[in-house]
Amino acid sequence: MTLENLHTAFLKSSGISTDSRKIKKNQIFFALKGDNFDGNQYARNAIDQGAKLVVIDDEKYKTDKTFLVDDVLHCLQNLAQFHRRYLNLVIIAITGSNGKTTTKNLINEVLSQKFKVKATEGNLNNHIGVPLTLLSFNTTHEIGIVEMGANHQGEIKALCEIAEPNYGYITNFGKAHLEGFGGIEGIIKGKSELYEYLISVNKKIFINADDPIQVAKTQKAKVYTIGEDTLSDCRVKLVEANPNVNIDFCGKKINSQLLGAYNFKNISIAIGFGIYFGVEFKAIKKAVESYKPENMRSQIIIKNDIKILLDAYNANPTSMEAAISALQKVKSAHHSVILGDMFEIGKTKNEEHQKVIDLVLDQNFQNIILVGETFYQLASDLKNINAYQNVNELIKNLNQFDFDQNIILIKGSRGMQLENLVDAL
Ligand code: ATP
Ligand code: MG
Repeated sequence: MTLENLHTAFLKSSGISTDSRKIKKNQIFFALKGDNFDGNQYARNAIDQGAKLVVIDDEKYKTDKTFLVDDVLHCLQNLAQFHRRYLNLVIIAITGSNGKTTTKNLINEVLSQKFKVKATEGNLNNHIGVPLTLLSFNTTHEIGIVEMGANHQGEIKALCEIAEPNYGYITNFGKAHLEGFGGIEGIIKGKSELYEYLISVNKKIFINADDPIQVAKTQKAKVYTIGEDTLSDCRVKLVEANPNVNIDFCGKKINSQLLGAYNFKNISIAIGFGIYFGVEFKAIKKAVESYKPENMRSQIIIKNDIKILLDAYNANPTSMEAAISALQKVKSAHHSVILGDMFEIGKTKNEEHQKVIDLVLDQNFQNIILVGETFYQLASDLKNINAYQNVNELIKNLNQFDFDQNIILIKGSRGMQLENLVDAL
C-alpha cells in the first residue's frame, strides 16, 4: 500500500484512533509504541472492535487488515503531512512557553466569526497530537490552528515540516521545560525554529511588538506586529487588569473575562489575527468578551468574602512571576499567595524557587503559603512564610490562617494538585 492509498482509505474511514480501547467502527488504528506499551499487540483487538485497517510495524501481527510499515509514528506523521497538502487550507501555528492554548482558543473564537475554523483539541500539541490535529481537518475547513508544544531542540522544526504553516506566532520565551532545552538561550533557540521555518518558506510571522526578543529575531522576516508600540500594525492598549483584562483598540473597548495582565498579550494577538483576516471589530469584541478560560487556567472563584485566583493548571518561573505581578495589580483590601512547587526545571531548580521566595517576601502579602518538597526545603525556617510538604498537610492547617477580605492567588505545577484547596478554603 502506498501513502496515497492509505490516504484514500483514511478519507473513506471514520477517522484515526491510537487507543485500541476507544476504537470506533471503521476507524484506522495506528499501533504506536510508548515507553510501557506496544500498540502492535492490540492490532487483533482493534480489528475485532471494528477497525477498518490497522497500521503496524511488527510483522508478527500481520493479517489481511493490517498495513505493515517501518515505523508507525513516521507513517502517522507522513499521512498528516499528505493530508495537509491535499486540503491546502490556511494553517496558523502557535508555539511558545506559556499561553499557547489560551491564545489558540482566542484566535479560534475570533476567526470563527468569519471563517470555518478548526483548532487543536485541548492540548494535543506534540509529535503525535499535531498529526492527529491535522488529520481532524477536512474540506469544509478554511483555516486550521495548530498548537505546537516542545520540550527539546528540533521538535518545533519537525512539527513545522509536517504541518507546513502559512502563519505563526510565538506566545513568549519563558522558563518552561528549562531542563530539556538547556536554559533560556536554548528555549529561545528552540521556539525560534517556528520563525526559521516561516522565513525559509517566505511566510508571515505575527509578533508581539512589545517583545524585544521577538522583534530582534524577525528582522529579516515578513511580519505583522501587534502591541502597545506606536508603530504596531495593530495597536492595542491595556486599560486595566483588575482583575479582568480590558483593552483599548483605536478608542474602542474590549472587556474580557480573562484575568492577569499576561492575558493582555494573548488577547491582543487574537485581535491582531482578526484585524489581519478582515473580521469586523464588532465581531472580534463579541468573540473575546464571551470567551471564558478553560478549567484551572486563571479562573476567578468567589467564596463568601474571599476571591480566589485559581491558576493551578501549570507553573514555571516565568508564569509564576507573571501571576504574582498580576495579583499586585488587583485592587483588594488584602492579598495572599498559596504557591506550589514548579516541576521540570532541572539544575536551576533551587535558584528559581528561591527567586520566587525573594519576590513574595518583597510584597505586602497578608499570608505567604508555600507547598511542595522544594519550597519546604528552602523556606520552612523562614519568618513570614508558612511552608508545607504537600497540599494535604496544608489543608489540615488551613484554619489557622485569616483570609478575610482577601484575594488569594493559587498557583503551582499540575502535579501539586492545588485545586483541591478550593473546596477546603
Ligand atoms: P501547555 O504547555 O500546558 O500546553 P500552554 O502554553 O498551552 O501550556 P495555557 O494553557 O494557555 O498555556 O496557560 C497555562 C498558564 O500559563 C496560565 O494559566 C497562566 O498561568 C500562564 N500564562 C498564560 N499566558 C501567559 C503569557 N502570555 N505569559 C506568561 N504566562 C502565561
Ligand atoms: Mg497548551
